[in-house]
Amino acid sequence: MQITQVHSPNFAAGRKTYTPIAIVIHIMEGSMAATDSWFGSTVSQVSSHYGIGINGDIHQYVQEADTAWHAGRVNAPTWALIKPAGNGSYINPNYYTVGIEHEGDETTEWSDATYTSSSSMISEIAKRWNIPIDRQHIVGHHEIYSLKACPGTKVDFEKLIAMASGNPALNKIPGFGKVTTNGKVNIRQAPNTTVPVVNVVPGNIQLAFDGYVDNGESVSGNSKWYYTDEGNWFWSGGVS
Ligand SMILES: [Zn+2]
Repeated sequence: MQITQVHSPNFAAGRKTYTPIAIVIHIMEGSMAATDSWFGSTVSQVSSHYGIGINGDIHQYVQEADTAWHAGRVNAPTWALIKPAGNGSYINPNYYTVGIEHEGDETTEWSDATYTSSSSMISEIAKRWNIPIDRQHIVGHHEIYSLKACPGTKVDFEKLIAMASGNPALNKIPGFGKVTTNGKVNIRQAPNTTVPVVNVVPGNIQLAFDGYVDNGESVSGNSKWYYTDEGNWFWSGGVS
């Protein structure tokens, strides 16, 4: 993979006592050229480790062993792995995350080239630092700093994570319908049992779905999982 070095002066050498445990996904809210110059200026006091262009180009602004300034502010975090520092404050996430910016706006569709380059970078970074490739460890900026929508609504985290882990893309078959739970059913963030349960639905409850995949995790030989309007998933074996 070709990575163009574009130096940013906005970083701290090293990571104190920390190592990266997660990758934070950002959107540039602008072009890669504008980001190069913004991160290149000491006036901005911001940076990230990488930038991915709409055409798939990859720029590196800060070395991974150093602390980039991309997610230092914390507000109402929903990220489960954020490190508390007591008194309702947090250890600066910049010390234990790698930041990847993506060219475009919060409302622009991500290009195939963006997905390809971003997922390859995630895969390499995860290997280097032993970071699991799942939704707990690949997080959106707004999950740390709720006052920003970054990276917006267009990035499909499941797709990015599936591509980065080398798993086949989910074969989504749309079609609205309703099923009834046989017993307790776990609602998850992805069609596999390695991701956290976001909700547990009791038996004999009607669940609406927006479609299904036939290549989720195989459970008891059944790899059909339904997905919902909210982007959640449940295994078809638990419903009828
Ligand atoms: Zn951001």
